[in-house]
Amino acid sequence: MTATAAPLDLVLLPTWLVPVEPAGVVLKEHGVGIREGRIAFIGPRAAALKLAATEVRELPGMLLSPGLINAHGHAAMSLFRGLADDLPLMTWLEKHIWPAEAKWVDEAFVRDGTDLAIAEQLKGGITCFSDMYFYPKVASDCVHNSGMRAQIAIPILDFPIPGASSADEAIRQGVELFGDLKHHPRIKVTFGPHAPYTVCDANLEKIRVIAEELDAAIHMHVHETAFEVQQAVEQTGERPLARLGRLGLLGPRFQAVHMTQISEDDLALLVESNTSVIHCPESNLKLASGFCPVERLWQAGVNVAIGTDGAASNNDLDLLGETRTAAMLAKAVAGSATALDAHRALRMATLNGARAMGLESEIGSLEVGKAADMVAFDLSGLAQQPVYDPVSQLIYATGRDCVKHLWVAGKQLLDDRQLTRMDEQQLTATAMAWGKRISGHHE
Ligand SMILES: [Zn+2]
Repeated sequence: MTATAAPLDLVLLPTWLVPVEPAGVVLKEHGVGIREGRIAFIGPRAAALKLAATEVRELPGMLLSPGLINAHGHAAMSLFRGLADDLPLMTWLEKHIWPAEAKWVDEAFVRDGTDLAIAEQLKGGITCFSDMYFYPKVASDCVHNSGMRAQIAIPILDFPIPGASSADEAIRQGVELFGDLKHHPRIKVTFGPHAPYTVCDANLEKIRVIAEELDAAIHMHVHETAFEVQQAVEQTGERPLARLGRLGLLGPRFQAVHMTQISEDDLALLVESNTSVIHCPESNLKLASGFCPVERLWQAGVNVAIGTDGAASNNDLDLLGETRTAAMLAKAVAGSATALDAHRALRMATLNGARAMGLESEIGSLEVGKAADMVAFDLSGLAQQPVYDPVSQLIYATGRDCVKHLWVAGKQLLDDRQLTRMDEQQLTATAMAWGKRISGHHE
């Protein structure tokens, strides 16, 4: 490095800077400098103001944090939001969602649904999301065009799905997409066997071998309900997580979504394999699936991230609200008000999501060298006053309507609550048109 580094592209001066790493820190009178999409400086405001920069922006009354990471969802299912509510998981899936998917899901559906989900998430402070849905190539195109960051999990089931006539075909397409996007700066392709009850040992074995070869992650619904575990035990004598362990799938690149049922043996398996758990509290609550024991996992050293799940079972992609629910629920489940405090809740919604996706060296915290994925929350409103602890205020007293600005890799995708690259009116009209078509044919 020469003494005269290139000028910064942008300096941000928020009232509160919450880097997430180091843990529990709130910096006042500090600034962040961005150069070529990366964080190049974090330091006192006075020092920040002395740096050469193309643009300097004051963010009064705002809390700047790493962008939120939605670690589990089915983006295009946003077009099924509210289609079938107040039903248990298997009835909801078998009687409503699977038939609706068979009838409606094609490339156009996935394109429009994914764009809708991307826009909703950007407006809600989310800079990176995990997606598991049909036509993953189409979803990856949407992500590419939007400027957002995502993990795209290739859906794999034993039976034909929209876009793939067999598990083998889905895997083949996944390998191809993985190769095509290997060097994409914002998209990471992973393999998404749907659930233990929809993928057989032989297919799981194939997925394990390929994921190992490519050094790819595996993203899977596991132990979503007590019924799932009970049925597996009755039929095979083996709990699903134990089966995945026997097949060699668990490990630091495995993301176990839901995990509402955790025995002592399950916990030991998660800990020793260093498997990540993705907690989806609102989907679990709404489908009455059970409660993931977040505090117990956290204290045992398991990495717990958080996801909204699809909008058809939530019914929104509001990760900030989800995190609030998670913080409340963790206390109720643990029987302790100290469980999942506000700072740890924010960490779960940022750095832990990055770690689950293998992106912790790139995103999830505000540190020099990491990508500039950031969100500014406006805490200057009446409902946030007075501010004693801005992180507590963010988690317990702030809704996603307070998301003011958002950047991914230094590019501003939300400016004063407005999407910079997407047409909100157009997206709304398109979603309404789908709703009209689908409701005209439903029931
Ligand atoms: Zn899901």
